[in-house]
Amino acid sequence: MDTPLTLSVVVPMFNEEAAIPALVARLRPVLDRHAVGYEVVAVDDGSVDRTAQVLLEEGRRWRQLRVVRLRRNSGHQAALTAGLHLARGEWVVSIDADLQDPPETIVDMLRVARERGVDVVYGVRSDRSTDTAFKRRTADVYYRLMRRLVGADVPAHAGDFRLLSREVVEVLRGLPERAPVYRLLVPSLGFASAEVHYVREQRVAGRTKYPLGRMVAFAWDSAASFSAAPLRIATWFGALAFLGCLALMGLGLVVYVNGTVIPGWTSLFLAVLLLSGVQLLCLGLLGEYVGRIYATVQDRPTFHVGFDSGEQTYPADLPA
Ligand code: UDP
Ligand code: MG
Repeated sequence: MDTPLTLSVVVPMFNEEAAIPALVARLRPVLDRHAVGYEVVAVDDGSVDRTAQVLLEEGRRWRQLRVVRLRRNSGHQAALTAGLHLARGEWVVSIDADLQDPPETIVDMLRVARERGVDVVYGVRSDRSTDTAFKRRTADVYYRLMRRLVGADVPAHAGDFRLLSREVVEVLRGLPERAPVYRLLVPSLGFASAEVHYVREQRVAGRTKYPLGRMVAFAWDSAASFSAAPLRIATWFGALAFLGCLALMGLGLVVYVNGTVIPGWTSLFLAVLLLSGVQLLCLGLLGEYVGRIYATVQDRPTFHVGFDSGEQTYPADLPA
């Protein structure tokens, strides 16, 4: 009776009420034309605007639009996690809600996956001219750094627009990761992959949900989840400071033997400051990793689904 569910389109959304109508208008024809059986899993990441209501209204006219609402804002990657867990399709593609990733590219991804027999197809931004110069520069640094840290072949400028086979999704679902960074996690699994290039478009409406603070947090999550290199850097800092101290001690000895009195406290003071600074830094770094271990041990869910229109047991409307 029902056609098999071939494709799930996961769309994380945070305060995207303004972008949804444009998204639906562009995504739906593409899917209707090309995918046999599909569902769109719209994950409302605890928005405080009318995102959920707008989605439900659209859902009345579009049967395949499944609305999932997380109880609170959990972040882009956590919303993606929720989407990956709930998606039921044979293939799962994740796409931004703001139409920066062109929906038409999904068709190319499916074709490439079929033709080349791969499990992962990355959407690679071949042109980021619509992004700010700052975002482009920081992205460059980010991808270069991550390639070194992760070791695996992380495709540069492949964001979270990608197609995954059911097999990959199942592997991802089985990982105990607390703060998953999918653009690194997926390449590290080593599945056969291909790339599809696309032009990053302008955000259709609303504003970016990635201010500087979140970008920094994301970069730190990326580094810490794949490498203990920062801890090693801390060791080097410590060793360097220790050597510096030895040199200063030698200097002090020479001065003492020569009978000159050290006139000021400056050098002493600086040495103490430097050392305690380095110690605090190293402690903080250690704490970051311990915190991650703690979070993993606690094993709390990364997201809380408050409502899922795909579950028949839920009321058809949002609880007030
Ligand atoms: N997003 C989310 N939760 C958040 C922040 C962002 O689900 O806490 C979604 C957002 O709605 C969008 C996608 O993640 O669909 C990418 O965010 P955005 O377009 O703001 O990032 P940018 O393209 O500026 O890097
Ligand atoms: Mg965007």
